[in-house]
Amino acid sequence: MPLVSMRQLLDEAAKGGYGVGAFNVNDMEQIQAIMAAAVETKSPVIIQASRGARQFAQDRYLYHLILAAAELHPEVPIAMHQDHGNSFETCKSAMELGFTSVMMDGSLQADGKTPASFEENVEVTRRVVDYAHERGVTVEGEIGVLGGIEDGHGAGGTGLEHITEPDQAVEFAERTGVDALAIAIGTSHGAYKFTKKPDGSVLKMDVLIEIHKRLPHTHLVMHGSSSVPKDLQDIVNQYGGKLKETWGVPVEEIQLGIRNGVRKINVDTDNRLAMTGAIRKVLWEHPEKFDLRDYMKPAREAMQKLVSQRMREFGQAGHFGDYKPASIEEIAAGYRSGKLDTRPSLAGAR
Ligand SMILES: [Zn+2]
Repeated sequence: MPLVSMRQLLDEAAKGGYGVGAFNVNDMEQIQAIMAAAVETKSPVIIQASRGARQFAQDRYLYHLILAAAELHPEVPIAMHQDHGNSFETCKSAMELGFTSVMMDGSLQADGKTPASFEENVEVTRRVVDYAHERGVTVEGEIGVLGGIEDGHGAGGTGLEHITEPDQAVEFAERTGVDALAIAIGTSHGAYKFTKKPDGSVLKMDVLIEIHKRLPHTHLVMHGSSSVPKDLQDIVNQYGGKLKETWGVPVEEIQLGIRNGVRKINVDTDNRLAMTGAIRKVLWEHPEKFDLRDYMKPAREAMQKLVSQRMREFGQAGHFGDYKPASIEEIAAGYRSGKLDTRPSLAGAR
């Protein structure tokens, strides 16, 4: 199966009332772990690469590794997504490479650090949407600013400084026509999200629910949504790691989000922790080992286990054969005819 449109994956998820995990990759083992989990749980899947990942792995390697996944597993719908594009040029280069979906994170300026104005965000996102939809490529935008920093991208802070305003989210969706919208509800990138189990004072699920009510046709995206489970932190620390105690987003909060319009859930930190813990364990227990396969195999298995668990928790498990993937050309025709238009004034009238 060729790579498919993320829009179709998310539309189908909305119909089925489930969420789809978007897992970040940097190398072959992570792609293999995700595919093994997708096959195991019969899940459609979003594989995403940040700018940092594209630099680390190099574009052509990354693209061909993901193509290999599609070739080996034709039964699995796979969307290939650019995570946190910082500019029109980054998104365009991803599309030229063959990504079927891009995130234009116009909440920050092109430096990936400084919060942008609302008008700047609308302008750059609209430009990416026009270019992408003509080519059948999906666009995720962001309104409000997430906390933390990942891969050098992010404004820092706790995530509470720029919570998304529902009115602005509606105006943003209307003026840009994005397919999916990342909103800031207090989550942060990286491992250190919350200093205690989050409650409504730091994780604004009520804002998410309000936005979904006002924007029922735009798929919501939760970023910084690793759960950072204690058992994964413990394995890292048991074998020589030095992680400070921390809390992520509890799975039940993500599930509440999924019941309220969240269709894409970004998970990166949990997989990093799972792999690092597995590698540390081997090297700690067997300091005489030096064959890469001795520690990369358990690392890959640890990530597969985590991804399978998330796929079941998000509800995407069992859904990979529900629909026939449309070609990117068919999706482009859907945008041209207005059938796939998500702007509230138009989508609401359908
Ligand atoms: Zn993110």
